[in-house]
Amino acid sequence: MERNGHRFWTDVGQLTRAVGRAMGVTLRNLLRRPITVRYPDVQRPYPDRFRGILALTYDPATGEENCIGCRLCEYVCPPRVILVEMLKGEKRNYAKTFTLELYACEFCELCVQVCPTDAIVMLKSFDLATADRRELLLDKDRLHALGLQFAPSWATGTRLREMQAPPKAARGETKGGAKEEAKETAE
Ligand code: SF4
Ligand code: SF4
Repeated sequence: MERNGHRFWTDVGQLTRAVGRAMGVTLRNLLRRPITVRYPDVQRPYPDRFRGILALTYDPATGEENCIGCRLCEYVCPPRVILVEMLKGEKRNYAKTFTLELYACEFCELCVQVCPTDAIVMLKSFDLATADRRELLLDKDRLHALGLQFAPSWATGTRLREMQAPPKAARGETKGGAKEEAKETAE
């Protein structure tokens, strides 16, 4: 009987300490500045390398579409969500149609990486939530409009390819290396 009483008070003690600790956490967080923001009225700045929705770009100097309809993005896309039809022009080619099924996109960035004219980019935004999947079937006009609406992320095809290119060997280093190699072969 005495043993049961002792156990009871041990349990009460443990429970009180646990409730005290939990209330301590609650009180600390009551006084802490909230870290939530009232999205979408308030938006956090996105990091430069944010990989958001895709868009097509215009050349800011000429106002012309950057896309030349080469279809490289279509070929490289793993889930095959891009479809491009080329329109041949006298001086350059264009995309006659360009569709992107954003609802099935993996956001892998491969299309951006292969684009020779930096025509397709990712944006620093994901604000395209909808309950209707059809709204995420983006055509050429919509993709261009999105490109004007949101800021692009850091990556362009040119930048990504430059970043991944093997480092160029210094001139002297190459010559020396070649001479050394020729000497070794002669021996
Ligand atoms: S990000 Fe990847 S999955 Fe999405 S369209 Fe580009 S290549 Fe296709
Ligand atoms: S977006 Fe780039 S890779 Fe795709 S068709 Fe246009 S120019 Fe070619």
